[in-house]
Amino acid sequence: MSTTIDLGLKFDNSYANELEGFYVSCSGAEAPTPALIKINLPLAESLGVTNDDKHELAQVFSGSQAPVGSSPLAQVYAGHQFGGFSPQLGDGRALLLGEVVDQDNKRWDVQLKGSGKTPFSRSGDGKAVLGAVLREYILSEAMHRLGIPTTRALAVVTTGEPVYRTQYLPGAVLTRVASSHIRVGTFQYFSSLDELDKVKQLADYAIARHYPELKASKQPYLDFLCAVRDKQAHLVAKWMLVGFIHGVMNTDNMTISGETIDYGPCAFMDSYDANAVFSSIDRDGRYAYSNQPVLAQWNLARLAETLLPLISSDGKEAVEKATEAVKGFWDSYHKSWLTGMKAKLGLASEVEGDLAFCEQLLESMEKQDVDFTQLFRQLAVDLESNTNTCKAYFNDPSLFLAWRELWLVRLSKDELTPIESVSLMNKVNPVYIPRNHLVERAIEAAEQDADYGPFEQLVAVLAEPYTPQKGEDDYAKPAPESFGKYTTFCGT
Ligand code: AMP
Ligand code: MG
Repeated sequence: MSTTIDLGLKFDNSYANELEGFYVSCSGAEAPTPALIKINLPLAESLGVTNDDKHELAQVFSGSQAPVGSSPLAQVYAGHQFGGFSPQLGDGRALLLGEVVDQDNKRWDVQLKGSGKTPFSRSGDGKAVLGAVLREYILSEAMHRLGIPTTRALAVVTTGEPVYRTQYLPGAVLTRVASSHIRVGTFQYFSSLDELDKVKQLADYAIARHYPELKASKQPYLDFLCAVRDKQAHLVAKWMLVGFIHGVMNTDNMTISGETIDYGPCAFMDSYDANAVFSSIDRDGRYAYSNQPVLAQWNLARLAETLLPLISSDGKEAVEKATEAVKGFWDSYHKSWLTGMKAKLGLASEVEGDLAFCEQLLESMEKQDVDFTQLFRQLAVDLESNTNTCKAYFNDPSLFLAWRELWLVRLSKDELTPIESVSLMNKVNPVYIPRNHLVERAIEAAEQDADYGPFEQLVAVLAEPYTPQKGEDDYAKPAPESFGKYTTFCGT
């Protein structure tokens, strides 16, 4: 791979420099006719991209040429996939170009996804298809704009090469940006090989990079576990509050930084359903909506196992401390969830029984075919206008009406005035989420007609999710019945 294209990015590749043995250096496949479809300009600018030559950007963001200063590599990791342990996964179709430190002194991984085979590709082709790439762009940027920690999308390039899935589809590469790609599975890889020195090296690196405040701790590895636990608890609570179903919460898809990663089979639900599952392969509902916190804790227990020898040389003591830390997930999760849910309901004060009160609303929504996003938004409309249009969302509103009485009493005693409650609610209840039918429409137009208009428009609307936009009412509506049951797929 030649390295003559300068994007202006100032690479500083700590992973490559400090973690030898944690990756394999490699290069991307040459794309036949790379074409730049999308560059996320504000993000590019914040990272320091100064090159605006579309041809050169397409060369780099397809993986055909490495940019000046990069040090491309595929990371190794293991992972529990749907509960079964795979001792070696690794970047099979991703390439870490390197790290960039932005104007605010924050370090970011810049990674290509779909840039060809690596030593970890196993039987895969190392490629990605345009539909999946656009999907990740739309969803990850929407999550970011919703205020949810996530990897970001920097660029989309088509390669000019057809990629075979169940049919030939246009090949593409996504460039994504993350505060790092260290996963629970990265720890598991070295732990399962009994390479304790490497586990320690990785933990020290992760602490220095993500939790530097723990460096001075007397028990840094236990504190590290707790810090990751709290980040993940907060993240999953945020998912739950917007009706996001990740779909493939394998330990290789859980970051140490607490960012959402791997937008394969994820989706937002329209109608509230505690058991919502979209992924075609999640037949038992392991990663169903309401199971997400349970599985996040399960994943954290896998991380804890890798850290045991670092937590204490006394095995029994290590297990006790780690167990206690992992058990603490629920306190942390409920705290984040309750804070978020109360804001969604315009409440600021704390009252005993808040958790049960908030959960009661969800129970009233079960099997009622209520649009999750619209209902919360409409609660504020009703509060402001002293009406009760929300009941029309329910087939049988009896449980909701009973809950609503409690809510009105609760609001009347809250420290916020009704105007303040409405304002708070409108800041945290989105008007727009990436509705599945809109995402599919954008993908279809791009794949079939090379028409990127619907994609661009959807991305633009989702950039302001909390603000009603004139003429964009259709973007706030659930899928028409004709759209049918939605299914998503892994490994696309
Ligand atoms: P994912 O489901 O995207 O988290 O991927 C799980 C594992 O499969 C990771 O190690 C990926 O790198 C690998 N993988 C997924 N798709 C491909 C592909 N088309 N070619 C090679 N490896 C792949
Ligand atoms: Mg993955």
